[in-house]
Amino acid sequence: MPTLHDHAHIGGQTLRPESLMMSYGYIPAWSEGAIKPPIFQTSTFVFSSAEQGKAYFELAYGLRQANPDEEMGLIYSRLNNPSLEILEHRLTLWDGAEDAASFASGMAAISTTLLALLKPGDVVLHSEPVYGGSDFFLKNVLPKFGITAVGFRPTATPEELTAQVAGIEQGRLAMIFVETPANPTNHLVDLEACAALARQHGTPEHPIRLVVDNTFLGPVFQHPLKHGADVVLYSATKFLGGHSDLIAGAALANKALMKEIKAMRTFMGTMCDPNTGWMLMRSLETLKLRMERAAQSAQTIADWLRQHPLVARTYYLTHLEHCPAQQDIYRRHCLSPGSMISFDIKGGEAEAFRFLNALRLIKLAVSLGGTESLAEHPATMTHSDISVPEQAEMGITAQMIRLSIGVEDPQDLMLDLEQAFAAVGMAQARELELA
Ligand SMILES: *Cc1c(COP(=O)(O)O)cnc(C)c1O
Repeated sequence: MPTLHDHAHIGGQTLRPESLMMSYGYIPAWSEGAIKPPIFQTSTFVFSSAEQGKAYFELAYGLRQANPDEEMGLIYSRLNNPSLEILEHRLTLWDGAEDAASFASGMAAISTTLLALLKPGDVVLHSEPVYGGSDFFLKNVLPKFGITAVGFRPTATPEELTAQVAGIEQGRLAMIFVETPANPTNHLVDLEACAALARQHGTPEHPIRLVVDNTFLGPVFQHPLKHGADVVLYSATKFLGGHSDLIAGAALANKALMKEIKAMRTFMGTMCDPNTGWMLMRSLETLKLRMERAAQSAQTIADWLRQHPLVARTYYLTHLEHCPAQQDIYRRHCLSPGSMISFDIKGGEAEAFRFLNALRLIKLAVSLGGTESLAEHPATMTHSDISVPEQAEMGITAQMIRLSIGVEDPQDLMLDLEQAFAAVGMAQARELELA
């Protein structure tokens, strides 16, 4: 019988993920020779015998250990479905993970994973800022279950982090939750330092798990498992999906942790649906192409913005000369600066709004990682639930604009940006005349 890994190697050489996204984990002979996996649009699966049904349930409910050559069979689409299993096998390749689970959204992946790995009395130490939904879940939902969230700044030194951990009651710290690069400032968190802290303060009875939201650079440009992370999470709505046409999420880890996370997914019902799973597989075929092209354009555009007379400063991962500590993390963790650029326009909210309202090719919308370029105003949109003093502390200003660069021609994107700057400049000139 052919196996999953049959086409992952040629002559002992392991093939790269982008070479396997069209075939890995799928056996055409099982589906009438169709070159693409069908969408397994089904809620339940027929057992060949009552004995088989019994055996599958024994494994699903952990009533006995699997025999060495025994694979979990298909039971019901809340537990497993071929469209999702093929997708999940393909997802493991980019991050070098043992196992993966797909979810109905990034928030489904985050909330299910946190509820699976935390219990009442536990403390989560988390980087700040994090995605608005994660921030709300950490600060407003987890406390209802007796779980406390404590924030730290990405710019905290290893000594400051150690001091913060020392301040938490022995045995209560159960998770370090990190989002890096941070949205919208592109601040980086040192995953290796976090992993060392987790190992140093965790025990076999009270392990401390390092959980990383890798949505901004992953899975092509950053691989947290290689830097000591235990779990990697994604909003697959962003780069993985990449076309702004679906909502999904993913979690990746070793087999033991994924077993806990998948069990929680089964009971919360937060799995991805087969149609979205199929859409994600189509997206994975072009993932690297899309991410590389967008990053290449973003580098050109970020450099151009940096020298623009109406730009006060840029926040981009190759513009870190002023901060050696951040530059050092970048060199160790990141394979590319990616395609998220923030910049401060000269002026304030009025200038930022004028600029955003003048854009024509680039659309004014939240979200990111799609084929089309998007722009938004973090202070009044994605990060508006953070108080202004806290925004200031995080480095989010009223003049800040966040760009997600897509796959359009970079010259056309700069043409659009330049005419929007011109609109701001003309308005300023008019105001000076009136004054
Ligand atoms: C969008 C996003 C999420 C949430 O994902 P959804 O798919 O919208 O639920 C989580 N983390 C980051 C970094 C995000 O950008």
